Amino acid sequence: MTAIAEGLTLDATALAELEVGFRGEIVGRDDPSYDEHRKVWNGSIDRRPALIARCAGVADVIASVRFGRKHGLPVAVRSGGHSFPGLSVADDAFVIDLGQLKGVRVDPEARTARVQAGVLLGELDRETQAFGLAAPSGIVTHTGVAGLTLGGGIGWIMRKHGLSVDNLRRVDVVTADGELVQATADENADLFWGIRGGGGNFGIVTEFEFRLNELGPQVLAGPIFWRMTDSPQVLRFYRDWIAEAPDDLMTILIHRKAPPLPFIPAELHGEPVVAVVCCYAGAIEEGERVVKPLREFGHPVLDLCEPKPYLQHQSMFDPSFPHGRLYYMRSCDVAELSDEIIDMTVEHSLRIASPHTAFPIWQMGGAVARADGDGGAFAGRGAGHTFNITAGTDSPDDFEAEREWVRGLWSALEPHHQDTVYVNFLMDEGSDRVRDAYGDESYERLRTLKRKYDPDNLFRLNHNIPPA
Ligand SMILES: Cc1cc2nc3c(=O)[nH]c(=O)nc-3n(C[C@H](O)[C@H](O)[C@H](O)COP(=O)(O)OP(=O)(O)OC[C@H]3O[C@@H](n4cnc5c(N)ncnc54)[C@H](O)[C@@H]3O)c2cc1C
Repeated sequence: MTAIAEGLTLDATALAELEVGFRGEIVGRDDPSYDEHRKVWNGSIDRRPALIARCAGVADVIASVRFGRKHGLPVAVRSGGHSFPGLSVADDAFVIDLGQLKGVRVDPEARTARVQAGVLLGELDRETQAFGLAAPSGIVTHTGVAGLTLGGGIGWIMRKHGLSVDNLRRVDVVTADGELVQATADENADLFWGIRGGGGNFGIVTEFEFRLNELGPQVLAGPIFWRMTDSPQVLRFYRDWIAEAPDDLMTILIHRKAPPLPFIPAELHGEPVVAVVCCYAGAIEEGERVVKPLREFGHPVLDLCEPKPYLQHQSMFDPSFPHGRLYYMRSCDVAELSDEIIDMTVEHSLRIASPHTAFPIWQMGGAVARADGDGGAFAGRGAGHTFNITAGTDSPDDFEAEREWVRGLWSALEPHHQDTVYVNFLMDEGSDRVRDAYGDESYERLRTLKRKYDPDNLFRLNHNIPPA
């Protein structure tokens, strides 16, 4: 017998069986690269899996699933490693790591992209933008396409082109019994419905095929800043301004202390600010016309909303959310930015202590709300705004206070929470919150689907949907 973790042993031949023909790498606790490969984006997560199977292809994924199942190992699945609560790594688990599956094939004629599971957002955008095309994704380039898409996928062009899942045409999935199946709107349509929001509950997706949309390469985009003390007026103006805005416009509000970045004047560094970050997915001149009233409101201290490559805009938040910092987050949807919500948000934001805490409020609606037909398990289509109350610190000493700040704002907003919450913005908050993320009816439908595709709940280290 070989000990692979505390109290966990495997038949000596078992590992050798997995290793035969494995094109990737099996990393155990004694391997020099173990610490590198068990790390995830959120530095507050420090877990020690038993084994990490760094897959090089679909055959490795199939072999890993069969191995995990045969030996009764808890299976964790990792693509970009950006789960806020660190769901892609667990103590004593068998991690199936897809990070090396980096293939992207864009078909500019058909306007589609086939994307393997280890691809990160920036890598996908780089390939699609070469042809002036884009798949809706998220706002930080080092996030994994896989986990983001499986939860829904909200980002800069969703109000015009829909969520990532709204642009999904096909997935390849390795199911819990180690079979490769394809799901589309016509083939395994039940699975295709569940995959579009239901996370990694039904199997391991090895490849996604997206429909692409024309975009840029230049877009009008970037933040306009005011002092945070002006935020009550700015947010009231913003609320009325976006009510008339076209779907080409997507905005995110950020409250934070201004970071010491080269394009921010030194006198603002560390000062509490509010920013309205815009991205206009249509013609630049049209965007200029739409954004003009915002730029002219009150006394902006910095205006960086200008024509720029979409790729540059996509990476603007990267420096704010680096790997390895300690992060905590809570999220809720609200129907509108009422006076009470605005005042509460500003009052709490003025108490942000950490220079790294930057919290986004997402403008929802547009094409997301209008998705026709059965758009999948993603439930937040009726959200007005998504609060993504995120805190970050460098040191564990400040982390607890900043977490308290997050919880304080989230709780204060509780009377205004809508029924839904975005599953990709959940921490480890218990099964009721997972149910909230889908609503009762979809949750039951997902449980029935889980019984069909994963009755033994092999894939349970996720925002879990237990089999019906
Ligand atoms: C800095 C940052 C920015 C973000 N920005 C956005 C944003 O703009 N828009 C947005 O919608 N979300 C955003 N998110 C949330 C993000 O969508 C989720 O954290 C998502 O789960 C990350 O996917 P991943 O592949 O990187 O994560 P991982 O940690 O690798 O996986 C996350 C979950 O998905 C499962 N999973 C991963 N890959 C597969 C697969 N191939 N098959 C089956 N299951 C799989 C894992 O088991 C795990 O449960 C952001 C998160 C971070 C940390």
